Amino acid sequence: MSVPAMREATASAGQAGASTGPATQALLSVQGLQAFYGESHILHGVDFQVERGEVVTLLGRNGAGKTTTLKSIMGILAKRTGSIRFAGEELIALRSNQVAQNGIAYCPEERGIFASLNVEENLLLPPVVKPGGMTVDEIFRLFPNLAERRYSQGTKLSGGEQQMLAIGRILRTGASLLLLDEPTEGLAPVIVQKIGEVIRQLKARGLTVLLVEQNFRFAATVADRHYVMEDGRVVDMVHGHAVEANLEKLHDYLGI
Ligand code: ATP
Repeated sequence: MSVPAMREATASAGQAGASTGPATQALLSVQGLQAFYGESHILHGVDFQVERGEVVTLLGRNGAGKTTTLKSIMGILAKRTGSIRFAGEELIALRSNQVAQNGIAYCPEERGIFASLNVEENLLLPPVVKPGGMTVDEIFRLFPNLAERRYSQGTKLSGGEQQMLAIGRILRTGASLLLLDEPTEGLAPVIVQKIGEVIRQLKARGLTVLLVEQNFRFAATVADRHYVMEDGRVVDMVHGHAVEANLEKLHDYLGI
């Protein structure tokens, strides 16, 4: 499908569920994003917006391009075209360190905890890029079990503790947009619940969260809006309050 045809398809899909979101003044506005791994063309014109203070998910089946979208926003995947506007700045030509300095932080699916460093050292690792980030003590108050493990090495942490540390350490940076890639993957229900509470608290602090999730039940409890991706495109958007009414359609999209 050509890019204009795709845009039209995306726009009409949006009209079917709801509008695709406000086009102006969004904190993050992604338009016509295309991305490539080498010769493999993965994103084919991704369009979506995230308002300041929103929690928004990217849903979709395996391989739909959700992680690739986060990596493209972050500049980790450099081979990309289109537009990524954040707080009025165009990011498409920037390297990942410059994207981070603009106030976007990325928590990858693989978490990236340094095994040889302890909890506190891992927390102190990412540089502060903007004022207003949380202090180490505030992060320990948000994650009391990390406080108890303050001097434990990364290798000694459970999967849930590693995930909390991975989220905790980007909160120091002062970033205002957090990109979280499948934070609940492989975690016990009680830890998933805790992560949900944390995301709600971060929203209450005014942070904006773009969340990639496979766990739709979890996503539905935390997000204001959901974008659905298929084959490297956004094909629909559903407001949190409209999830129940759109359950059948969402299950079809996600194959559940
Ligand atoms: P998943 O939950 O499976 O990660 P996803 O929606 O996040 O799903 P992506 O990881 O963005 O999907 O992958 C989109 C496509 O890009 C898939 O076809 C995948 O095989 C391909 N892909 C991902 N990483 C690479 C890579 N490093 N090199 C080449 N192709 C890749």
